[in-house]
Amino acid sequence: MRVFHTEKSLLHAPDFYFRRGKRIEHLERAERYRVLRGAAERAGHDLREADAHGLDPIRRVHSERYLDFLATAWACRDEIEPGLDYVLPSHFARPEMHRYPEGMIGRVGFHMADLSAPLYEKTYEAVLASADVAVTTAEAVLDGGHAYGLCRPPGHHASTESTGGFCFVNNSAVAAAHLGAKLGCKAGIIDIDVHAGNGTQIIFYERDDVATCSIHADPSAFMPYYAGYAEETGAGAGAGHNLNLPLAHGSGDDVYLDAIDRAIGFVTDHGIGALVVALGLDASEHDPNGALKVTTEGFRAAGERLGAVALPVAIIQEGGYLSEILGENLAAFLGGFDSARG
Ligand SMILES: [Zn+2]
Repeated sequence: MRVFHTEKSLLHAPDFYFRRGKRIEHLERAERYRVLRGAAERAGHDLREADAHGLDPIRRVHSERYLDFLATAWACRDEIEPGLDYVLPSHFARPEMHRYPEGMIGRVGFHMADLSAPLYEKTYEAVLASADVAVTTAEAVLDGGHAYGLCRPPGHHASTESTGGFCFVNNSAVAAAHLGAKLGCKAGIIDIDVHAGNGTQIIFYERDDVATCSIHADPSAFMPYYAGYAEETGAGAGAGHNLNLPLAHGSGDDVYLDAIDRAIGFVTDHGIGALVVALGLDASEHDPNGALKVTTEGFRAAGERLGAVALPVAIIQEGGYLSEILGENLAAFLGGFDSARG
């Protein structure tokens, strides 16, 4: 399988974040890039550097003022407090607050959903490079094939105007919108990360160009808390285009794979011409998140099922955190996928 990546992923290296009121070691570590790349190399896949594609593909899913914020936040950090090592908000815009602030200190709280995604000097460069991996992967499958994009930082919690959950630019959304635009078809996203793909849901909620399905652990007391429920099915032109499949915590391979079958049925029923798999590996039984109990063989079977979808498929890396088995799970998924493609 063609595997697209960029060493610029290493430029964003957060060392801490705030989780449940505590400052703790960051889960989305730069080391993930090395582990995932190493596993793909050892499995014999065809590694290639991503090409640069600029901002236009990203503009299909993010607002101009949000992209301007990402581009300028570091340079304007002294407006918040002189001498900062990272950019994070101290206030957050609530839904009932509607004035867009001019100053950077207010814009930070408008465009950041939580305290999990500190922005550093090189973060923007890494984020654009990660989006380039997604676009390069989408470009590579326009002829009907499949490829894997090792995107880091991940993207599926980033919404039209907001970071969140370690994410800045929604790589899976960028890839799906790119496929739809280039192929002149509706695209689908199946998100199998253990967390609901709330950013992806928000981006496409009122659009009919991308059908979205997320399989995840029940968000009632689990990130992202405020989205990912079964009753959220889309609105306006996007009515009926979103399917959430929240799973009981502790669910294993059988439940996960049944949900993947349902997701495939849902997106193909929408007449899609291309598919993005938002590949989180944090449903693993060994992931530090610990919410689901998917085995390595479960990831292989997931790859087999998704590989059997006879469409162009861009596999985009989302979450999945350091454990002894992270690389093995990636290799199992990609191996299962390849075996189904024949
Ligand atoms: Zn996740």
